[in-house]
This record gives sequence, C-alpha cells and structure tokens, in this order.
Amino acid sequence: MSKRLVVQKFGGSSVADSEKIKNVAERIASYKNHRQDVVAVVSARGDTTDELEQLALEITNDPPEREMDMLMATGEQISCALLAMAVKKIGYDAISFTGSQVGIKTDRTHTKARILSIDARRIRKALSENKIVIVAGFQGTTHDDEITTLGRGGSDLTAVALAKALNADVCEIYTDVKGIYTTDPRTVPEAKKINSITFDEMLEMASLGAQVMQARSIEVAKKYNIPIHVRSTFSKEEGTMIVKGSDKMESISVRGVTCNKSEAKITICDVPDRPGVAAKIFTEISKAGINVDTIVQNVSHTKQTDISFTVPKLSLNKALRIVRGIAKKINAGNVLFDNNIARVSIVGSGMRSHHGIAAKMFRVLAENKVNIEMISTSEISISCLINRKLTGKAVKALHKRFNLDKVA
Ligand code: ADP
Ligand code: ASP
Ligand code: MG
Repeated sequence: MSKRLVVQKFGGSSVADSEKIKNVAERIASYKNHRQDVVAVVSARGDTTDELEQLALEITNDPPEREMDMLMATGEQISCALLAMAVKKIGYDAISFTGSQVGIKTDRTHTKARILSIDARRIRKALSENKIVIVAGFQGTTHDDEITTLGRGGSDLTAVALAKALNADVCEIYTDVKGIYTTDPRTVPEAKKINSITFDEMLEMASLGAQVMQARSIEVAKKYNIPIHVRSTFSKEEGTMIVKGSDKMESISVRGVTCNKSEAKITICDVPDRPGVAAKIFTEISKAGINVDTIVQNVSHTKQTDISFTVPKLSLNKALRIVRGIAKKINAGNVLFDNNIARVSIVGSGMRSHHGIAAKMFRVLAENKVNIEMISTSEISISCLINRKLTGKAVKALHKRFNLDKVA
C-alpha cells in the first residue's frame, strides 16, 4: 500500500518565532511517525510581509512591482530554511525549497501572479528519499526565471496547488484560529466555529474579506475538488472542512458575516449619459490591471449621471490618475474619492432559496443607524458599503440578528 501524503500549510503566526517553529516541526514529525509523507508549505514569519512592504514604501511610494516580488519572496525563504533546520534538529530528514526550486511556474503578473504549472519531480524525488519537504509559499517564477508572488495570502494557493500536483490525500491549512468561524473571532468573540462549509460559501467569504483563506486558493480547490481542512497550529482539535456542497448545508440561509476595509470609492460626477462612456472608463482602468468591484450608476434625468465604483485602496492613486484623465476627455465633472468606506457582507448558499434576507439586512443596519452607501448582491451574498467607523457595530448586529452566535 502506498504511503499517505499530507500537504500542510503553516501561516505566518504559526512560525512567528523560534519556539513556534519548533512546535511546527514537532507537529510535522508526528505525521511522519504515523508513516505519512509530508510536504509543508510555510508563510513568512509573523508580520514580515507587511514589514517588507513598509520598508519598500519608505524608499518610494511607487515601488516597481518586479522589485516588490524580489523583496516579498524573501520572507518565505527565511521561514522555510528555519523550519527545515528545526525538523532536522529533532531527528528527521528534511529539505527546504523555494517556489522556483520546486518548479512552480507562473505568468508575469508581478505581485498577483497566477500559477501555470508545477513540475513536482523534485519534490517526489525528495519524498522517495524519505525526506520531509518544506516549501516556501506565495511564490513562483516565470518561464524567463523572474521571481513572482501570488498575491497576499498566496501560501494558501501554493498549498492547494501542490496538493493537486502531488495528488495528496489531505490538504491542511494550519493557522492561529481553530477553523472558519461565522465571522472574524478576533473582532466578535461570540463567533462560532463552522464544522463544514462549501467551496462556494468559502470563496464568497474570502472574496468579501475573511482573510483566513485566500480566495484564489479556494477557486483552485473547487475546480479540482480538493477538500481542505482549516485548523489550529496550537491545538489538536478538528477544524473546519471546506468541501463540495451538500443539501443540508444549502438549507442554512446565512452562514457568515464578513467585512473588508481595503477598498476605496471613486465617484465621477456629471458624466455625459451616452453609449460607450462606461466602456471607455472601465476599459482604461482594467488595462492598468486594477480590479474594480461594485459599480453604481445613477438614473439620469438630465443627460448627465454620476458613476461610483470601488477599487482596492492600494490602487487608488493609480486609478485616480487614470480616471481624472478620462473625465477631462469625456467632459465629465469632478472626480471624488472616499477612503473611509467598508464593505459588510452576509454569505450563505441558502440565500438561493430563502426570501427576505436582503430586507432583513437593511433593517438591521437602519436600526443601528448605519447608512448604506452602495449595495451589491450575488446569488449567495449581499454586501453594503458603509462608513468605515461603523464596521464593528454593523458586523456584530448582523451576526446576532442572523442567529450566528447560536449555530453549532
Ligand atoms: P495565516 O498567517 O495563518 O495565514 P491569516 O492572518 O491570513 O493567518 O488568517 C487568519 C486570521 O483570519 C485569523 O486570525 C482571523 O482573525 C481572521 N479571520 C477573518 N475572518 C475569519 C473567519 N470567518 N474565520 C476565521 N478567521 C477569520
Ligand atoms: N506572506 C504572504 C502574506 O502575508 C503570503 C501568506 O502569508 O500566505 O500575504
Ligand atoms: Mg493567510
């Protein structure tokens, strides 16, 4: 019988210092003791990635993306080398690799590259030599050997992609909380751990701000049907299984509440109301590689209209430069922006078949005197843009009203 293969990912807080790295080494070794092969993906220690980004911003407020990737990829290289040392120290053979060394090839989109292929031969060879393989997460290289990173939280994607490439039996994501909760347990102590959640729900929660899993990693897991076990590095307790849907899960209307404070709103005033204008604006923005989210255009009574939309805060300056240029060309009015917004969302597959959920959400916000600036919906989520200062209040009220503090 062939040995089971486990792909595990340890997040930044799990390897923040040498004691924690030793704890992770013990955890990995316990799998080896049960005759399982282990490939461990590691993130940068603690806040290293944020610190590196900050360092770059102290040098220039517009760092070249290629150099950002050179810089950011170093964080993971440090932790994977240290973890390999810690595993060897307790008597097991281990070897660390960068993304490039294990053949993770990506496209050229620096800072948010997509994985194109993985040549897993080197990992397989090391496993066949009975080594524990430790891989630096969040990174790869292009076909012309440029280092790329996979977007924030990208070590999750490395783990899921390796689980697929190696046909692993299990993919475990170890983090600092005990699994996926009904909302961020660090901000709402009443949040409850969810035993099992669908790929679709997790994808929606991740896209709408639950940073516990990177959204793109869930897309890949869904595409290849790779179940993921999210659990704590600091406890043996079972965590949350992210799996394909089941009928029972679909019957629950709201499974979680999320918030996202990383967007900014841009409004172009007095836009001439004629065909082709929106196409022109959004084509230019997308050419610059900026992801636009919610878009609202008012009904025009005067042959002029306002268009508002959200962009990632980090892209705000770039977006404003582009939009101001276009506004001039098309004879639009002022371009305004708002940095003080947040998106609060409710997510649940059951929304497909339950009515009145949106109305209930708006009522809860109104009762709490939270003004809604924009609304967007998908089949399984409803999001409202609100004043950032009111985020905590809104999330807590929604969590309570949808009885999420009571679910098992
Ligand atoms: P790691 O370094 O392990 O990748 P992250 O900081 O990326 O960890 O993600 C874990 C954090 O995600 C938790 O500490 C928690 O505060 C936050 N989080 C946000 N929403 C949720 C949620 N719904 N369930 C669990 N954790 C959440
Ligand atoms: N270190 C990277 C980040 O902080 C990747 C990761 O943690 O998954 O985003
Ligand atoms: Mg993470």
